[in-house]
Amino acid sequence: MEMLSPVDTIKGVGEKTAKYLNKLGVYTIEDILLFFPRTYLVYPEPQAPDKDSVNSLISISGRIKTSPKAFRSKNRMDILSATAYAGDIPVDLVWFNSNYLKGTLEPGKVYIFYGRLIFDKGRFKMSQPAIFEPEKYLELRKQIQPIYHLTKGLGNTTVLKAVKEALAHCKISDDRLPAALEEKNGFVPYSKAISTYHFPETFDDLVAARKRLAYEEMFFFILNSRLQEGKAVSFPNEFQITHHKETDDFRAGLKFSLTGDQSKVLDEMLSDLTGDYVTQRLIQGDVGSGKTIVAFLAMLDVALSGYQAAIMAPTEVLAKQHYETFLNWVNEAGLDIPVALFTGSMKVSEKKAMQKLVDENEACLIIGTHALISEGRTFGDLALVITDEQHRFGVQQRDKLSSKGNHPHIVVMSATPIPRTLAMILYGNMHVSVIKELPANRLPIKTCVIKESMRPTAYKFVSDEIAKGHQVYIICPLVEASETTEAQNVTDYSKKLKEYFKDQYEVGVLHGKMKPAEKNQVMADFAEHKTQILVSTTVVEVGVNVPNATVIMIENANRFGLAALHQLRGRVGRGDAQSYCILMNESKDDKQSDRLNIMLKSNDGFYIAREDLKLRGPGDMFGVRQSGEFSFKVADIYQDAYELEMASNDVDQILKEDPDLENHPDLRSTLNLFLANQFYVL
Ligand code: ADP
Ligand code: MG
Repeated sequence: MEMLSPVDTIKGVGEKTAKYLNKLGVYTIEDILLFFPRTYLVYPEPQAPDKDSVNSLISISGRIKTSPKAFRSKNRMDILSATAYAGDIPVDLVWFNSNYLKGTLEPGKVYIFYGRLIFDKGRFKMSQPAIFEPEKYLELRKQIQPIYHLTKGLGNTTVLKAVKEALAHCKISDDRLPAALEEKNGFVPYSKAISTYHFPETFDDLVAARKRLAYEEMFFFILNSRLQEGKAVSFPNEFQITHHKETDDFRAGLKFSLTGDQSKVLDEMLSDLTGDYVTQRLIQGDVGSGKTIVAFLAMLDVALSGYQAAIMAPTEVLAKQHYETFLNWVNEAGLDIPVALFTGSMKVSEKKAMQKLVDENEACLIIGTHALISEGRTFGDLALVITDEQHRFGVQQRDKLSSKGNHPHIVVMSATPIPRTLAMILYGNMHVSVIKELPANRLPIKTCVIKESMRPTAYKFVSDEIAKGHQVYIICPLVEASETTEAQNVTDYSKKLKEYFKDQYEVGVLHGKMKPAEKNQVMADFAEHKTQILVSTTVVEVGVNVPNATVIMIENANRFGLAALHQLRGRVGRGDAQSYCILMNESKDDKQSDRLNIMLKSNDGFYIAREDLKLRGPGDMFGVRQSGEFSFKVADIYQDAYELEMASNDVDQILKEDPDLENHPDLRSTLNLFLANQFYVL
């Protein structure tokens, strides 16, 4: 079995399973080896069912007294039911379409049942619990179980078995980093790190494996960017861009005046555009700091000077939003500048019309998703390319957009709050601009952490805000119900909420599994106030701007990294009305409340992310969703800031002695593999 063999060469992976895996971006053996668990589960110690554990995933040790009963429900579903006695407490168990289980449960015997405990009509219940023999369960409890991202039809055990097979039969080469580096940093070998990441024996092993893989990812990321940098020569700025009175007039006509930081950054951009060389600049500005208008004003000067300027956004929703904002601005100011949009979901005829617009006009503003960089997309004289939410793109994708022009000016925008030193490492030779100041009209967002018992109060609050004419986001971690994860899901939640606010408010539903056109529609309805509540997964996290929304309520907030919560909270507080963030904490763990309380103390994204880490033990750093910076598979710039600096120093040392990697052929080939295998979640 080779690294690049297709997944269906794994024993036990048939055509159907392969198809599901493909859906998750897994095509080759290498892909599945790098398809790391989303989180880990240690099966809990069996306990007595009690009211405190209702709605939690627990395991009980229960005796079956009489044979399970099988019957068929009205809607023709096969139902199997049994009662287990945990001591003398009865727990009703039920399974759907699983009659084959009937024979596995023998009267008189004790089994361990793992599932969510429900309390209904005075009795404890479990629906679809997993069944274990007590000895087997004891064994299982000693192991840390990997939990993978799944898709409908694909079970965790199937993925787990496939990974195990691949690990057993595929030779993973350990020649990746120079031996001296491995030794100096005390790394476990690469192959060991990979297998440990899937099947750790202890959390300490997991931490060591993670450290190595995170380091390596950042090492190659930095190595690549340093090599690119070395090659980059300064190109003279041959664009004749000047600052225009129309831009000033437009700026004067805005409903607000720019903050000091916005003006400063705009000046920096203008001096780039009119300078002697084309430049690359990173604009870092926390959520809501107003990066879009700065980008627009720079693009406007470019267009008024007779060139094209493009901005690329990571999602269709965001691209569409920018397009509409830009179109409005241009129209309201009566400017005669065409605005074009390219997204993947547009019809061929629509794309053709947009392309025509771009072809026929020397000057125009172009907005799009990665559809901008697709083959065949051509531009006129492109003088400025901007990447919004740049961490969601790969280096190659950014380069590809630039290559559509003739050495254009490059700007990348990011809401990731990181200190300057880290920014310099990650962005190599770029100039760095920072927007710190928030617009003056902003009231600080009021944040609170609440428990389930306060849900009715929260809904009342939500309802009152809507009555005032405002709108509300509600965020759930999952798209649909999951057997392995205990958290709210958008599908069921929105149904309940629609019922709750029936005949009162309209509820929109948004998640990543929807088709782009549907997503656009849902966002448009929310932006146009046709819906008052938007129930969504974290897809709204990037860039979405609906200033009339004043409340964001985040379910299972304890499941998110604080960096992610900070970005989510940034969806409100975008206008001049007081805004609120309600964090629903389902965890009984005091540590989780401490962690969430950090959100009450600060509005500074980097402070928040760092404090978050201080409170985490090695075991819980995997369960919480990280911010997914730079689309690293493992690394996280907050969590692995130390490894990031280490990798940066190591790269510098190697390149100092061997600038073209002539004496490091292995490193060169691993780098190529690494680049070929980078995938980006869009
Ligand atoms: P981000 O930096 O997160 O991309 P946006 O560019 O989406 O932020 O801006 C957020 C909101 O703030 C928008 O509605 C925008 O029109 C508004 N805004 C931007 N600059 C200012 C300002 N100087 N004063 C008041 N509102 C502003
Ligand atoms: Mg933005």
